[in-house]
Amino acid sequence: NPVLLEVKGLQKRFPVKKGLFKEATYVHAVNGIDLTIHMGETLGIVGESGCGKSTLGRCILRLVEPSGGEIEFQGEPLHRFGKKEMKAARRNMQMVFQNPFDTLNPKLTIKQILMEPLIAHRVPHEERERLIEETIEIVGLSKRYLLRYPHEFSGGQRQRIGIARALMLRPKLIIADEPVSALDVSIQSQILNLMQDLQEQFALTYIFISHDLGVVEHIADRVAVMYLGEIVELATKEALFQRALHPYSQALLSAVPVQDPDDRRERIILKGDLPSPSNPPTGCKFHPRCHACMDICKTQAPRPQEVEGRIVTCHLYE
Ligand code: SF4
Ligand code: MG
Repeated sequence: NPVLLEVKGLQKRFPVKKGLFKEATYVHAVNGIDLTIHMGETLGIVGESGCGKSTLGRCILRLVEPSGGEIEFQGEPLHRFGKKEMKAARRNMQMVFQNPFDTLNPKLTIKQILMEPLIAHRVPHEERERLIEETIEIVGLSKRYLLRYPHEFSGGQRQRIGIARALMLRPKLIIADEPVSALDVSIQSQILNLMQDLQEQFALTYIFISHDLGVVEHIADRVAVMYLGEIVELATKEALFQRALHPYSQALLSAVPVQDPDDRRERIILKGDLPSPSNPPTGCKFHPRCHACMDICKTQAPRPQEVEGRIVTCHLYE
């Protein structure tokens, strides 16, 4: 499939003041990310909270301004776009959030909520009504709900409304940040199935951000594993779940419950907590927690390598 989105060297630094003299330092929330995303695929992005995955998603849409790097969408350099051009480009790139209730204005009816993007992008008046009615039904809700308010809906229904809003302009790319994390497991699979149906129906491309590997296994074609602002492994879902190569991916995967009773995969317990991103370890940032750490890992940062058709950033594979 053709490339839809290409991200090169994407960075986001946040200034923080620390120490006795309040020196200005930076947190590298996103630290040089390269990604190529093809039309119609679902790229899962996984990692612990604080690894920078949400910031990465927001930087791609420039909802958070990147500190450096390039973003090409359909061959156009988004990173160079001014406000007006960026607004026009967002017609094709939408976001779905974890908790739609936080982002659905409680004072607006569902119809008004779905109308907003149509007004912002000057969709002709005569098409608006039809688009709203069509879209609410596409996400599995009744037209009767259009005059109700967000608080009248369950979590799953609200996420359907959040998805409807993202779909209003028939975008090409949807970045979903933990879209099912706030929902009960039974509702999670309904929403994931809905997203898969919509992907087929509208030829959507997804970037699916989640800390939950089970959810990512359900929906992703390829998976990027993030640690402290960097991608440590990028592989097809099948390859990753069959045999993760990076020690961090191995640890994450070993914590996922398996159905197969013959699978005696050993549980790898991660040592310690995620280090503070404002004071990352030297060398390989994962080394203090790594079960395979070598001397070189403490002083030298590994570079991304192509290994067995995937990208792995670890000295073990050099
Ligand atoms: Fe572990 Fe070294 Fe690989 Fe880092 S580079 S993940 S410390 S083996
Ligand atoms: Mg997050």
